[in-house]
Amino acid sequence: MKRFLQDFTKKELEEISRPKFRAKQIFSWLYSKYITSYREMRNIPKDLIGELERKYSIEPLKIIKVESSIDGTKKYLFELSDGNSVEAVLLLMKAEEYHEDGVLKHHARYTVCISSQVGCKIGCSFCLTGKSGFMRDLSAGEIVEQVRLIKKDNNIASNRRLNIVYMGMGEPLDNLEEVAKSSKIFSDPDGMAISPNRQTISTSGLSSKIRKLGEKNLGVNLAISLHAVDDSLREELMPINRAYNIKSIIDAVKEFPVNTRKKVMFEYLVIKDINDDLKSAKKLVSLLNGIRAKVNLIYFNPYHGSIYQRPDKKDMLNFQKYLISRGVLCTIRESKGLDISAACGQLRDK
Ligand code: SAH
Ligand code: SF4
Repeated sequence: MKRFLQDFTKKELEEISRPKFRAKQIFSWLYSKYITSYREMRNIPKDLIGELERKYSIEPLKIIKVESSIDGTKKYLFELSDGNSVEAVLLLMKAEEYHEDGVLKHHARYTVCISSQVGCKIGCSFCLTGKSGFMRDLSAGEIVEQVRLIKKDNNIASNRRLNIVYMGMGEPLDNLEEVAKSSKIFSDPDGMAISPNRQTISTSGLSSKIRKLGEKNLGVNLAISLHAVDDSLREELMPINRAYNIKSIIDAVKEFPVNTRKKVMFEYLVIKDINDDLKSAKKLVSLLNGIRAKVNLIYFNPYHGSIYQRPDKKDMLNFQKYLISRGVLCTIRESKGLDISAACGQLRDK
């Protein structure tokens, strides 16, 4: 399989497209002007274009389907060059921010939820993505291209701020090298310039890889899919817990370099009658003791054939209330795009 031009960091591109400033120009064509063919790179010499074109494809993905939700969420189905497919989701979130003059401003903030693998090896019992097994890792370029094509398709200006969450299909830390590379390409000031502050990597808790990610010092935010406070329940929900138990995850998180203004996010999938009780909430508080953490409660999203149920709203609110009363920051994630199966855990390859 041919490699893709989008697989290259700017530094790597400088090596293959002399003189150095060509890499900057190519980045601008790709990530500010969203070009889709080599012909459009008008200031690049013909012989260099010819050479790059022979070696590297510029079309890692094709959009084959777009579904729009009534809440504004859009789900994209992409075909990869080997015929596999992955999904990504564009979300429009309301955000509140204090402006310099002290006025509270409401505005819409784009978030793109991207995939890092075709399928997933982890096989969590509640997740649809894990059900269809694992096909392969995505390359950095295939990860980057999801955001590039979504920005192009929605005419999102290149300088418009947007967030990236690695929460689509796959376990990002099981594909750490390509994921880390994609993060560097996203944050390059000559490319999409998406600050690592605005990127969040979500993991099912591969403790050794959390350490490796920390050592890379990318500056990205970390989210842990915890979902249970006892190892026995967590093993039932997430078989990976046999290899990396709760304590090993907490220990790895304690060593993770967190931006002083940020916190590690713990995702807690609330499932009716499984983990929605206050005893669990209490245990969660003690587990997070000593960590700069925030908790994001997620409603379990049922799908056809799922064995679990969505929790009651009142249990969700009680759970949240308890955490807040103990001084733990806690939000409830709104499910977006439920009508088009674009919500958490509902992505799959077709
Ligand atoms: N593999 C990584 C990232 C992708 S999953 C991880 O597990 O963290 C993104 C989030 O969706 C995870 O927190 C996952 O637990 C959650 N999720 C999976 N299935 C879900 C479902 N049916 N309903 C709600 N959330 C789900
Ligand atoms: Fe994989 Fe995450 Fe789904 Fe678990 S929840 S099967 S780790 S994608």
